[in-house]
Amino acid sequence: MNAPGTPLLSVENLTVRYRLGRSMSGRAKTFTAVKDVSFTIGAGRTLGLVGESGSGKSSIGRAVLRLSPISQGRIVFDGQDIDAFGRRTPLSFHRDVQVVFQDPLSSLNPRQTIADTLGQALTRHRPLSRAERDRETGEALDRVGLAPHHADRYPHELSGGQRQRVAIARALATRPRLIVCDEPVSALDVSTQSQVINLLQELQRDLGVSYLFIAHDLEVVRHMSDEIAVLSLGELVESGPAAQVYDSPAHPYTRTLLASTLIADPARQAARTAQRRALRAESTAAAAAAGGGAQKHP
Ligand code: ADP
Ligand code: MG
Repeated sequence: MNAPGTPLLSVENLTVRYRLGRSMSGRAKTFTAVKDVSFTIGAGRTLGLVGESGSGKSSIGRAVLRLSPISQGRIVFDGQDIDAFGRRTPLSFHRDVQVVFQDPLSSLNPRQTIADTLGQALTRHRPLSRAERDRETGEALDRVGLAPHHADRYPHELSGGQRQRVAIARALATRPRLIVCDEPVSALDVSTQSQVINLLQELQRDLGVSYLFIAHDLEVVRHMSDEIAVLSLGELVESGPAAQVYDSPAHPYTRTLLASTLIADPARQAARTAQRRALRAESTAAAAAAGGGAQKHP
């Protein structure tokens, strides 16, 4: 446990540079994808990291997971500089920090049943008997709103939303303290988006897990973020409490991102309005039903 008031995750002046081979003169060429980015996430809190495609969001998420280079600056998780781990990432870090990606179809093994996928995740860091594993697999499905019969299915037999529920259950299997959610709902249709966001919020209330929630869409992170950080071309242009960033955006880029939710195309505009309405209805329903029974999504 970290001391009270200390953030669970602290990203300090992070710069991520990729090597692009060598120039004709033999000098190493690099590309700076993230420059001097700082933010913190407290225990049980959500930071929404938003920006256009290519702005460096995934590079930051991957750096937190130790998958992108930390070229400058530091990332401190639970009081530990994660670069100081060296080549071997401690098991405790793998347990504590998990990830949910945009496309569960490519991150789930197509030849494994859901029960096998979850069973494997549950036993990776903890020895469990067969009976314990089966029981915990059932509990894991239930926690994300799936039914027992989903255990025997393969990923391609599930809907996109159900697959993302499996990916969330798998991430939760190690009882993480932080989940990097990299555009977890971007591939889903509007009503499924709001259900999955609602589920993530419910899980946060119950388990106290923190989220680094990445999205290119400001509307998606609005209802679940405590803090928002806006990224443009690898640099943070604005960050602060969600209400402040939405209600009085300080930076022109943030205003543009917010305004781009008012789209000229009527079809997209209608979808957008439906999305906003669905997200709002879900969060109202969630608040009313807080602590109530879990819904099933067959
Ligand atoms: P986002 O998630 O916001 O779309 P990314 O972090 O994926 O942005 O990418 C930021 C920039 O870094 C992009 O220009 C991308 O092409 C580049 N980039 C990402 N990964 C690599 C890599 N492994 N090597 C070189 N360039 C990369
Ligand atoms: Mg990305």
